[in-house]
Amino acid sequence: MNAPHLKSNSTKQWQDKDSAHLLHPFMSHPDLRKKGARIVTGAEGVYIFDSEGNKILDGMAGLWCTQIGYGNEELVEAATNAMRQLPYYNLFFMTSQPYAIELAAKIAEKAPGNIDQVHFATSGSEAVDTAYKLIKYYWNLKGQPQRKQFISRDRAYHGSTTVAASLCGLTGMHPQFDLPIEGIHHVSPAPYYFENGGDLTPEEFTDVCVKAIEDKILEVGPENVAAFVGEPVMGAGGMIPPPPGYWKKVEAVCRKYGIIMWCDEVICGWGRTGEWFGSQYFDIEPDIITMAKGLSSGYQPISAVAMGGDLAKTIRDGDEEMVHGFTYSGHPVACAVALKNIEIMERDNLIGEGAKDRIDYFQEQLASLSDHPIVGETRGLGFLGAIELVKDKKTKERFEVEGSDAGFICREHCFNNGLVMRSVGNTMILSPPIIITKDEIDELVTKARRALDLTAKDLGVL
Ligand SMILES: *Cc1c(COP(=O)(O)O)cnc(C)c1O
Repeated sequence: MNAPHLKSNSTKQWQDKDSAHLLHPFMSHPDLRKKGARIVTGAEGVYIFDSEGNKILDGMAGLWCTQIGYGNEELVEAATNAMRQLPYYNLFFMTSQPYAIELAAKIAEKAPGNIDQVHFATSGSEAVDTAYKLIKYYWNLKGQPQRKQFISRDRAYHGSTTVAASLCGLTGMHPQFDLPIEGIHHVSPAPYYFENGGDLTPEEFTDVCVKAIEDKILEVGPENVAAFVGEPVMGAGGMIPPPPGYWKKVEAVCRKYGIIMWCDEVICGWGRTGEWFGSQYFDIEPDIITMAKGLSSGYQPISAVAMGGDLAKTIRDGDEEMVHGFTYSGHPVACAVALKNIEIMERDNLIGEGAKDRIDYFQEQLASLSDHPIVGETRGLGFLGAIELVKDKKTKERFEVEGSDAGFICREHCFNNGLVMRSVGNTMILSPPIIITKDEIDELVTKARRALDLTAKDLGVL
């Protein structure tokens, strides 16, 4: 294959083969066949390269995951060494291996509160399914088998397997597959102030959102509720940081009714918010967290469920076999890469104080886009950002675009002008690699403004 930054004469062949054989995630295939896929052939630092020779700043870190950027030789070496030393061994039948042992201990060290037990899987969705099962198991062990109801939220994203998709509050994910499964309840409104806040102050809106959760618990019957699950900052639902004080109050509600508090940290974990975990950013101590994505900076498919307190103790000390696990739970190569990834984050001060300066700069520059005529709001925290596209800045009226939306138009302009920015409806989303430099942030924001200008022109505003 050509060097990543070189134009290839194979684009058309790859597109044709792609159209012929490849079913893509979350894709309308007729659309894709019409346009042809963009073929990404390589990547370095915060950039990806396509087969047409374009260099594109990846403002999404892949899918919120390549925290330390592309082309990191230390991760390559860690994978290569592990593959030579122990390419595979499992954790079944009373066996273990150093890679999984060391990573479990490292996760326990970094995780919030008293979390100290870790189980591995290979994707966020599998971690979510695992957490769901283990929480049910816990309540069975506790002699409260009626506690099987799960409370989730409108706009939540928790993955794509049957349980995970059921927990999602993105309702478009349900009808094709006869979901959600039973026992899952979605709370409205989502803690999305720009969309749902109306005339309330942010603080008043917090109370509305928290009361909706408590009302749902009361409606289901607190004695029937197994757990509340939430992303510290909603990701795929539109990069939605909660209104002020939200998580502390949600934590208090969970404690009040003795229900398990489960934070899905698949996006927020591993530096995305500027802390190791989103829970630490919001100063909460969940009983159980799910993680994936940034755990290995996306270099290897690996996820984990980590838990503490009575949940962890009860499961760990149960007399019987825990009848759950995967062939690739704690895969040595994936664990080796995750360990090296975390070591680099520690060594290079990529989290906490060491990130503060670049985070402040990123947030400042992002906020500078709020003067743009089609921008209704910018918001963000850590290395997360969102831009709301509106027709009317005062009333927040959205654009009406036939068969599409303003976000999709903007996304295409971004791509064509050297920037990956994702769209969720009319919301543009940023989640760059956490190694991004100030110069690269400048480039990102300049390109974003240009894409906004072109979008505005298309929509007849500029
Ligand atoms: C991406 C994501 C998942 C699913 O992870 P996969 O690896 O795609 O299965 C689960 N929860 C959250 C919060 C996510 O962002």
